[in-house]
Amino acid sequence: MHLHLKGTFMEPNLKEIIKNKIDLTRYIAKYSPVDSRGFASCPIHKETQASLKIYDNKSWYCFGCLKGGDVFDFAMALDNLDFKTALIKLAYYAGVDIFSYKPTESRFNKVNEVLKLNAEIKKWELILTLTQEQILLACDIMNTEYQALTHTPIEAVDHSTYTKIHINQQRFEEYNEQADKVLDMIKAKLKDYQEQLNTVKRGK
Ligand SMILES: [Zn+2]
Repeated sequence: MHLHLKGTFMEPNLKEIIKNKIDLTRYIAKYSPVDSRGFASCPIHKETQASLKIYDNKSWYCFGCLKGGDVFDFAMALDNLDFKTALIKLAYYAGVDIFSYKPTESRFNKVNEVLKLNAEIKKWELILTLTQEQILLACDIMNTEYQALTHTPIEAVDHSTYTKIHINQQRFEEYNEQADKVLDMIKAKLKDYQEQLNTVKRGK
């Protein structure tokens, strides 16, 4: 069995694992005989002519009903299944126990890390869209004891309105004076998170 790795980041997921265990031609032949050139009568639209062609034992296309794709697309089209049901059906056929399938720990950690970094990047990108006053307020809230209560700068600003938390006037003025520095800090944070994300995506 050969597992295809999609890019450097993706480990083969469950769909890929199942797909790679199934011989497409043999699977389609369960429903309609396939000739030596990879042609079959399409069992999806119940054609009598050889309208379905299999390419490289990897994909198929029907010139009658204009459907095509991989073995998942075939199983879904044939019995009008949703993806989940097709996954269960094909896993059973391929002998893959989906209930004991767990992504490997390193993949799990990596996905988690990417999600976390993406969330940080979103957060700081969002800050850049706020007005200057909102930026100062959001920075203050996100850097202070209110940090735990809010997840995004918008939430931070909303939260302050809602609970009537007002930024410490002195700190506000301090921030205001340093508005350019605050902006630079935000951009630096963004850049830092983006670099971290790139490193995680490239590495491991
Ligand atoms: Zn067809």
